[in-house]
Amino acid sequence: IMEWKQPHLKVILIGNSGVGKSSFMNRFVNHRFTNLYRATIGTDFLSKEMTVDGCSVTLQIWDTAGTERFQSLGTALYRGAHCCLLLFDVTSAASFSALEGWLKEFLLQADPPDPASFPFLVVGNKVDLENREVTRKQAEQWCKVSGAEYFEGSAKEDLNVDKPFQHAAKAARQPNPCWPR
Ligand code: GDP
Repeated sequence: IMEWKQPHLKVILIGNSGVGKSSFMNRFVNHRFTNLYRATIGTDFLSKEMTVDGCSVTLQIWDTAGTERFQSLGTALYRGAHCCLLLFDVTSAASFSALEGWLKEFLLQADPPDPASFPFLVVGNKVDLENREVTRKQAEQWCKVSGAEYFEGSAKEDLNVDKPFQHAAKAARQPNPCWPR
């Protein structure tokens, strides 16, 4: 009998406070089956099982909304991450400008073996609002330069919430399909 271990993929959700990280994650997870785990270190992450290319994977999504709580964790939070999801608010130019810093901070702390090929996804949240300060073109341009994939949507309207996570799972699995990590 072959022992089968389901791959766990660690996804880090970062971005300025108030961009909608918790809302986005909760919208995604509550859309289907969800389990809430409380890690011993006092950090919460949500776990969600999903199917990617016929393989069952479990996404561990680490929401860093309570940033101050994570200070003591240092690099522990980012270490071993398989994918990084950068969130900004399309009605806040400041949250968009902050992406550069978040990306650098992540790379510094996570210290992935191959930074050039590490999967980064950017999500422009709150597209349901009228007062946009960041255009799709601007965001796409930044992502192109930074080597990230771009999505925009709304946690409130449940628009393009699943998609980035599907892509995150896909990107995180490569290059070992159906293989535990
Ligand atoms: P976090 O600090 O990044 O975790 O942000 P929150 O998830 O706490 O959201 C901050 C505020 O933005 C809350 O008042 C949310 O209700 C609101 N919010 C989050 N996502 C959206 C969205 O897609 N559209 C709108 N209009 N508001 C949102």
